[in-house]
Amino acid sequence: MKVLIIGGVAAGTKVAAKLKRENRNHDVKLLTDSKDISYAGCGLPYYVGEVIKDREELIVNTPKSFSELTGVKVITETKVIKVNPDSKTVEVVDLNSNENKEYTYDKLVIATGASPIKPPLEGMDLDGVYFMRTPEDAITLRDEIEELKPRRATVVGGGFIGLEVAENLAAQGMVTTVIDMADTIPPGFDKEMTDYILNHLAEHRIMVFTGTKLDSIIGENGRVKQVKTNRHKMNTDIVILSIGIRANTQFLDGSDIELMPNGTVKVNEYLETNIPDIYAVGDCATVSNRITKEPAWSPMGSTANISGRIAAMNINGEQNKYNGALGTAVAQLPGLNIGRTGLTEDDAKAAGYEAISVVTVVDDKAHYFPGSSLFVIKMTADKNTKKLLGVQALGLDSSAVDKIIDIAVTAISLNGDLEEIKDLDLAYAPPFSTAIHPFAHTVNVLLNKISGDLVTATPREFANGDFDDYKIMDASIVPELSNATYVDLSKVNGEIKGFDKEDKILISCSKGKRAYMMQNKLKHYGYKNTVALEGGSIVNNIK
Ligand SMILES: Cc1cc2nc3c(=O)[nH]c(=O)nc-3n(C[C@H](O)[C@H](O)[C@H](O)COP(=O)(O)OP(=O)(O)OC[C@H]3O[C@@H](n4cnc5c(N)ncnc54)[C@H](O)[C@@H]3O)c2cc1C
Repeated sequence: MKVLIIGGVAAGTKVAAKLKRENRNHDVKLLTDSKDISYAGCGLPYYVGEVIKDREELIVNTPKSFSELTGVKVITETKVIKVNPDSKTVEVVDLNSNENKEYTYDKLVIATGASPIKPPLEGMDLDGVYFMRTPEDAITLRDEIEELKPRRATVVGGGFIGLEVAENLAAQGMVTTVIDMADTIPPGFDKEMTDYILNHLAEHRIMVFTGTKLDSIIGENGRVKQVKTNRHKMNTDIVILSIGIRANTQFLDGSDIELMPNGTVKVNEYLETNIPDIYAVGDCATVSNRITKEPAWSPMGSTANISGRIAAMNINGEQNKYNGALGTAVAQLPGLNIGRTGLTEDDAKAAGYEAISVVTVVDDKAHYFPGSSLFVIKMTADKNTKKLLGVQALGLDSSAVDKIIDIAVTAISLNGDLEEIKDLDLAYAPPFSTAIHPFAHTVNVLLNKISGDLVTATPREFANGDFDDYKIMDASIVPELSNATYVDLSKVNGEIKGFDKEDKILISCSKGKRAYMMQNKLKHYGYKNTVALEGGSIVNNIK
């Protein structure tokens, strides 16, 4: 069988290599317009930050080594300009000779990925303006940093890539500013979590301006000097644009291959397009959300590889379903790892669930173990079915959020409900975790909330002022709050002086746990209107 694959990075090479492993007799050709294939796009910010030292490390396989390893014929610097499903041919232009050629196929895979959006604004072509998509982008930026030693950097776009780039620039001592037109960043987190992230970044000298739209880049002598936004002008030495990507599917015009409104290729669960024998995988395709089954764009290396593997097996004659993505993502920021999967509380409500969430602050490992720190976890479930819907996690001092997120991914993917997953036999030893795992601990807190054992003020409600008429009780280990009455939890043995049993009382502590224990005691002694502040003073702005 003759299989033609267009695109040779994550998705294309995965399909090609797996297909040859499935059946070495397949004639597999991979066409790409680039010189390189199989590069580590995800590693680019770390090359800029010199965490990855050598540029060679960014290239996982050269065309030659990939061909030798797999038996796939790799044809580089060849741009596909048209697909003709009726004749099962693609038209290409050889970018060296400018010659037009044609290739035939039995099965075609579109794995053409995406390219950075370049807004039609003044100043885009100035020296010192960068994008971050290919090894070339990262190599040029690092060369320039080494040569010109810029002091100020502006990253436009506060998604995961923008923040990773910002981290790597700040780590080299540059005064780094991130601007983003959204109200809050990064996407995929609810506001109480993004508030925490933004405060943390500010403490680490990365200033983020949300609600700030780039108007133009102002230059002097052909070089970047300032960025002008809807709010202000800022001096800067370099600008990195990371405002999103657009699928490389323009060449499919006239092919009758169905596209989504965002320009990605529409595929079914077998990764087939609407045209027989044509598949699409990776950033150029829209898959589905595993929970809602709605179309979902998941432009991630993970999705590209997983769907690429499945497409290869299907091309080889199997019938494997891709069950959909969860929007799982994880990133490293200075001193804070962030991760998310599934639906946010807002997403879940929008999707029609009776969503209930909780925010916890929990030890990442035995508190007495050297280097122990904390997670801030937000967990969302459906109140009726108790199905887990989503988890967002922040790992302070670089705690292992990927572990929390991956447990959540597994639980959600297996349709787990909170009752089933609360007592999973998760690994524990002091250097790794806590006896009740921080994930399970959060499940238990959410179950307490659903059952009514725990009545809380969420960070969002607290910030909205929903509890402004409550008396504040400080249940911390030692007094922490200046505008609250301190009550020593261990000394509560009955009615508390200064608090009437009918009073509305908001109980706070540093993490939220002692507030819960206090609420429990107060209930016993007849207090009727207490709420425990989720996440305590670590998450909330309470003084
Ligand atoms: C800086 C950065 C950091 C990232 N970090 C992560 C991360 O931590 N985790 C994660 O999961 N993902 C991450 N990603 C996303 C990940 O890199 C992409 O999802 C992945 O590269 C997508 O692979 P792909 O093969 O679908 O597309 P691409 O990587 O875009 O490759 C498509 C290839 O097709 C070629 N092509 C396009 N059109 C044509 C044509 N007409 N003819 C011939 N060839 C064509 C392109 O030039 C390109 O070489 C990151 C991406 C970037 C840029």
